[in-house]
Amino acid sequence: MQIEFLGATREVTGSKFLITTKGGKRILLDCGMYQGKGLETDELNRNLGFDPKEIDFLILSHAHIDHSGLVPYIYKLGFRGSIISTSATRSLCQYMLIDSAFIQESDTSRYNKKAIQQRLQTASPLYTEEDARKCMGLFITSEFNHKFYINDNIAVCFYTTGHMLGAACTYLEIKENGKITRIAYTGDIGRQHSYLLPTPENFPQCDYLITESTYGSRIHEPEEDAQNLLLQTVYNTCVEKRGKLIIPSFAVGRCQEILYVLNQLYNEHKLPSIKVFVDSPLAINATGVFLAHTEYLNDNVRRTMLYDDDPFSFNNVTYIRDVEKSKALNKYRKPCIIISASGMLEAGRVKHHVANNIMKPQNTILIVGYCSPTTLGARIQEKGLRHISIFGNQIAVRADIKSIEAFSGHGDYREMIKYLRCQDPDKIKNIFLVHGEYQTQLQYKQHLQESGFRNIIIPEVKDKYVLQEQEAVRI
Ligand SMILES: [Zn+2]
Repeated sequence: MQIEFLGATREVTGSKFLITTKGGKRILLDCGMYQGKGLETDELNRNLGFDPKEIDFLILSHAHIDHSGLVPYIYKLGFRGSIISTSATRSLCQYMLIDSAFIQESDTSRYNKKAIQQRLQTASPLYTEEDARKCMGLFITSEFNHKFYINDNIAVCFYTTGHMLGAACTYLEIKENGKITRIAYTGDIGRQHSYLLPTPENFPQCDYLITESTYGSRIHEPEEDAQNLLLQTVYNTCVEKRGKLIIPSFAVGRCQEILYVLNQLYNEHKLPSIKVFVDSPLAINATGVFLAHTEYLNDNVRRTMLYDDDPFSFNNVTYIRDVEKSKALNKYRKPCIIISASGMLEAGRVKHHVANNIMKPQNTILIVGYCSPTTLGARIQEKGLRHISIFGNQIAVRADIKSIEAFSGHGDYREMIKYLRCQDPDKIKNIFLVHGEYQTQLQYKQHLQESGFRNIIIPEVKDKYVLQEQEAVRI
């Protein structure tokens, strides 16, 4: 059997790992989109490194676009295998892939307008809404802790990682020549204590481990501080400065977490009486999925729901779908909170809100998630920044730029190592580090080694390894 690393190698987007068994079955672990690299991104996404028609099974760890965003693209290119995921991942993909298709189509039509004027060649979108709708027919869902056989020789079992609704560690048992090889792919690993999700769950001993490393060199603030830090920022911006608090947020997961915390503060009468606008149609749809899949939420949320049946909303919250109503927020003069996507400020309505508010000192832009280094979300956090280019315009930076890392959906290195302690390091033949910046991965490798883990590999893109009796061999 061999494994090829086709994305999220020494970087955090584009997760794609291809296992080919001796019997010729091809199992793709995640099919994520590259994001945040400007013009380079499109080319990276179009050059997959495999023929989609030859893939038998695609197993999705979770619905984030950097793990699922190319599913409609491979469908368009002829993939007709089975997509295996948890039911929450499927439900979220239904909205997220259509939203992604909408972004592809509108970006392309904007580009083509310019291209026609400048007599350049026009482009076609990576995929369309129709591709996104049709690929949904290929899903087969399974729940956590339920081992099932996808053919005579391959068994799959999902274990919760607490990273987002339905996010799973994929545990594979693959039989070749009568011998079983056990491969675990953690996907993204959540926090030990999340506001919404359960603690990452132990998974059985594996022979090969593929694991993320996003925060492999960092320690987060304690999670109990997140609520206080958020409340302080709300008071400072909306009460003391009478300004607007703009929170760029992933529409799925982070947005619901922020709303849940605000809802708690509201229930405890701690939140000042200001409007909270959730300006993202995708966030609204995703919140509906959270409410429909409460079995995936942790006990605290379920306890809250005994007396508060919608823990993601309260009297002051207004959900905005309509574009005109989104634009009208510009004219709203009172202090308020605007939560809008995308989290890394790469696209979406929040980019407009930042462009319209960053020049005013009474406002605050609050970053609540990881931003990969080339994105606007990362650039905006540079110390001493005086001007920033948004939509091609140079805009003065006078608003406060703050960040709260404790809302991260990814565990820090101590949390990840605590989770991986369910494994006996001596029984793992190799650990492959993926989904992390290279310098971070080097530090994480060291932390893992200090904790007794060995034979750690940081693959480069298109690296291929044969998984055999002993350690994996690069070919
Ligand atoms: Zn994720």
